[in-house]
Amino acid sequence: MSTITPAHPGFAVAGGAPDDIFEKPDQTFPRLPAEMVERVMRYGHLETFDGGAHLYRFGERDFDFFLVLDGTVDALDNDGKGGNIVLMSYGAKQFSGELNLFSDRAALLSARTLRPTQLIRVPRASFQRMVSAEPDIGEIILRAYILRRAGMIRHAEGGTVLVGSLRSADTLRIQSFLIRNGLPHRFLDSDTTPEAISALEWFRPGEPGGLPIVIIDGKNILHCPGNAELADALGITETVDPKRIYDVAVIGAGPAGLAAAVYAASEGLDTVVVEAIAPGGQAGSSSRIENYLGFPTGISGQMLAARAQVQAQKFGARLMIARSATALDCGDLPFRLALDDGASISASSVVVASGARYRRLDLAELSRFEGQGVHYAATSLEGGLCSGSDVVVVGGGNSAGQAAVFISGKARHVHMLVRGNGLATTMSDYLVRRIENSTNITLHLRSKVTGLLGEKYLEAVRWREDEKDVVLAISNLFLMIGAEPSTEWLNGCVALDEKGFVETGHLLREEVATTPYATSIPGIFAVGDVRANSVKRVASSVGEGSVVVHAIHGWLKELAARDGQPPA
Ligand SMILES: Cc1cc2nc3c(=O)[nH]c(=O)nc-3n(C[C@H](O)[C@H](O)[C@H](O)COP(=O)(O)OP(=O)(O)OC[C@H]3O[C@@H](n4cnc5c(N)ncnc54)[C@H](O)[C@@H]3O)c2cc1C
Repeated sequence: MSTITPAHPGFAVAGGAPDDIFEKPDQTFPRLPAEMVERVMRYGHLETFDGGAHLYRFGERDFDFFLVLDGTVDALDNDGKGGNIVLMSYGAKQFSGELNLFSDRAALLSARTLRPTQLIRVPRASFQRMVSAEPDIGEIILRAYILRRAGMIRHAEGGTVLVGSLRSADTLRIQSFLIRNGLPHRFLDSDTTPEAISALEWFRPGEPGGLPIVIIDGKNILHCPGNAELADALGITETVDPKRIYDVAVIGAGPAGLAAAVYAASEGLDTVVVEAIAPGGQAGSSSRIENYLGFPTGISGQMLAARAQVQAQKFGARLMIARSATALDCGDLPFRLALDDGASISASSVVVASGARYRRLDLAELSRFEGQGVHYAATSLEGGLCSGSDVVVVGGGNSAGQAAVFISGKARHVHMLVRGNGLATTMSDYLVRRIENSTNITLHLRSKVTGLLGEKYLEAVRWREDEKDVVLAISNLFLMIGAEPSTEWLNGCVALDEKGFVETGHLLREEVATTPYATSIPGIFAVGDVRANSVKRVASSVGEGSVVVHAIHGWLKELAARDGQPPA
């Protein structure tokens, strides 16, 4: 049975939630002027509904844009117990919807008329045309949708509930997946929240599934789902047509891949992006990027990635999330990419933007503690685990420096372990100064981790420092010791350097070096950290991803001139 908590038109009142859950109500729930309403009408048609009619439901992918002319539409979230709460209400000249309308992702809320209501329905395909052809209306809608999503995330609304213990690696993995994909959700810590117990009783998950569980739309329960299973259940992976030949397939949605997607899609290329985990890549694991142009106070990697993702989808790029490229067939055109779910993608050109993944310590016991005290990212999720305790950060580069500074704001004390004699040659000056000036960061030079101790969770770390052994009670260790290229899926297609990075441009024979980003196979390009000798910064990755699109146009033109045949 459904229970409804009423809300006021034009503003949001969730059952039990404060009534300021959405900031800037004028921009979050704008009323379009009459002149804009008229223009919207050109892309849709009038419809009238009785009260209680569902316009769309949670989980539906094919939902439309609705502009209310007269009456009220409620946006409904589930209450975690099979009923509904009204999260937002729209009155005359206000529109329904949320960010997912820009992609073909599933609806995060349901929409229902409260009373007899007259609307303009703009079907999905016309909606995409409208936001490009009417940029002033598109801007109002996009801003409203970003603010609505931000409100939902801030206040943990949106139909998904995660129940588990923060001391479980799977709970952390799932929560990190939801956060990095910008998915609003409620987290109930089974160790500390009485609500978690009542949620468990309500759904009676029983054994052998156990925790963590993810409850979707108040009805469906997933027991410890893998990322791909969760992405499918939440409808965040866009579907691709296996028969279609895309102009460009981008592998990896870090800064380089997202930039390539934005520029390719905005320049009219049919673009698909495959991302193994979540948009943002390594940058998504950074709490604050301070050297990216235009953000003087810094921006979190997740925020930057979320914005870039919306931008790419706005221009029509399709994003396959939680899908990995496992092999590339470059023997013929179009290129064919095999994915880990058994699907394949055909494309006339490929952009390798698969970046690099964190390096691990060479310790036998390491895998036992990964996610149970050993972390490779320092975002607010991990920061929250460190409050009031002593923490170790390993590494002497910028990512380690950022992590130490960020975590020192949460932890009692941060011990920074560096193998070398100082930080000057490996870390940016601004970070070195912050570490030196910090009262709760201690720098341990010439130090190397030699052991991790604990039963189920990390309890202590042993390291060798200047010929002495040190053991300290530590329950959170951050490993920031560099990264290795993610190139195994290229299965020998393109030339790699001795460390496994993709060789490009000037390193290759002159006749294939049409651009600095051309690989040894014409039509396959590499950008960002995965490229041999790249600078390995957010800005340079974004720059390379943007610029490579020019070369792709040239390649596609050449292909068209040769009627799809590869150049001799
Ligand atoms: C903690 C941290 C902090 C940092 N801070 C800064 C900073 O402040 N300023 C700065 O300029 N730089 C910073 N960097 C470096 C910066 O983040 C990287 O240079 C940048 O992210 C590289 O972008 P990229 O797109 O080339 O690769 P990545 O960011 O590595 O992204 C690659 C993406 O490809 C995906 N992928 C890999 N293999 C596959 C596959 N087979 N199929 C599908 N997808 C795949 C990965 O999941 C990943 O999302 C930081 C890095 C870290 C780790």
